[in-house]
Amino acid sequence: MSEVNAEIIAVGSELLGPARTETNSLFVTLQLNRLGIVVRRKWVVGDREKDLREALERALDLSELVIISGGLGPTHDDITREVVAGFLRRELHREARILEQLEKRFARVGLKMSENNRRQAMVPEGAVVLDNSQGTAPGLMIKENSRLIFLLPGPPRELYPMMTNQVIPLIKANLPVQPQYFRQLSIASEAESQVDSVAGPIYREYPLIETTILASAGIVELHFWWRGQPQEEEALRQLSELARRVKERLGASVFAESQARLEEVLGQLLRARSFSLATAESCTGGLIGKLLTDLPGSSDYYRGGVVCYSNDLKVGLLGVREETLAEHGAVSQEVAWEMAAGIRTVTRSDVGLSVTGVAGPGGGTPEKPVGLVFAGLATPDKTLVKRLTFAGDRDIIRLRSARFALDWLRRELL
Ligand code: ATP
Ligand code: MG
Repeated sequence: MSEVNAEIIAVGSELLGPARTETNSLFVTLQLNRLGIVVRRKWVVGDREKDLREALERALDLSELVIISGGLGPTHDDITREVVAGFLRRELHREARILEQLEKRFARVGLKMSENNRRQAMVPEGAVVLDNSQGTAPGLMIKENSRLIFLLPGPPRELYPMMTNQVIPLIKANLPVQPQYFRQLSIASEAESQVDSVAGPIYREYPLIETTILASAGIVELHFWWRGQPQEEEALRQLSELARRVKERLGASVFAESQARLEEVLGQLLRARSFSLATAESCTGGLIGKLLTDLPGSSDYYRGGVVCYSNDLKVGLLGVREETLAEHGAVSQEVAWEMAAGIRTVTRSDVGLSVTGVAGPGGGTPEKPVGLVFAGLATPDKTLVKRLTFAGDRDIIRLRSARFALDWLRRELL
């Protein structure tokens, strides 16, 4: 079986400083792995001709596929286009069509195009131009013997769609990639060890499938990769059977068999029921609302929420009783109950969701340690409360709490 090797070169001096993290290569790697392409090396270089040339030379030495990101912009320090063309000894010519598109783009927003931008219309001999729907710098594909070199814009919001919509199909069409057979199960509110103890005995019966487990704050993903002969029928049969058997054992904990996010799955359930939701958040400080509103269209079901960090807001905005607070404290079953019921009533929503807890690092007591969280859920027929304890630092405790609450509601709606 032939294997395609790839290397990624991220260009930009800022990526070598302390303020920016290089993340494009993670997205690119994920996309390539899905095609069975192995990333052999990654390079991060500054905006220096010598360094970029050297990385390119070494990469082309070993790999059939080289993906370069960044440095296609209009400014003086953006040198990728020129350096790559120079290295491959290809002339650059100005492409009228790109220039026209650039001019239109500037005209649309009422700006005059600067002279610098004209550089972005320069194309090395023989290159294929990739449209950039999100920015000014077009991407480029250059075939060099049997090798493929892509030049992509640095900004992630420009690179991601270009990668998915244009680069991946071009790689498939030009390199001998093997189809990859893959299944995924996404699981919420279960510990990684618990998931593995249930799934392990099942997936170990499938020696031709490689299983990986990825866990992050309340969510566990099981990835199943077919590693046998690329026989579609057998691969799909075994993958479906394995996924089905594991899913049967994990039950409602499985929220998706795709890349769908928990918030997305919950949103679909709320929409299907025509339910509206409102949130009352204390220790999560609005994180539940943020997760919900990260999704476009969430206004169909999410009405909004209150971040009621202080006791007087809990009382004043949600109708939590002073006596309840005095008797049980803000982090208590009773307050979570009244917050959920209160936000539901005040906003006239179908469902109210609440969270109150000790996120730490300070503020814990023997009775109410860091990580103690109460969640409340008020629906038209009932109001429920759950007591939880989460391990981890402040960020993790908050994220786990938010995800727990969302997942709890999802399960109630099933
Ligand atoms: P333009 O200059 O027109 O925005 P460009 O192709 O020249 O496009 P860069 O200047 O290299 O892109 O990068 C623009 C911004 O995109 C950088 O400031 C950085 O925040 C982000 N960026 C670039 N490369 C990466 C990367 N590999 N990982 C994460 N972010 C990146
Ligand atoms: Mg730039």
